[in-house]
Amino acid sequence: MTDAEDPPARRCASRHSGPRDGEECGARARFQIACHARPPLVVCPQHLGPALLLAEGVLWPPEITLVR
Ligand SMILES: [Zn+2]
Repeated sequence: MTDAEDPPARRCASRHSGPRDGEECGARARFQIACHARPPLVVCPQHLGPALLLAEGVLWPPEITLVR
């Protein structure tokens, strides 16, 4: 292991079937959604839509940035 310049790939923080599902998606995150008064959500493409519509604290209109 050496000091990498790039941070490790971020993982989708969504749950497969909803916030109460204990199983995390874990796919590579592609988008970061800005939230009010809480850390931004990092999600994979499959969870971008559900997160925008269902997650708490999402700004509207949404502020979405790409993550590498
Ligand atoms: Zn996901």
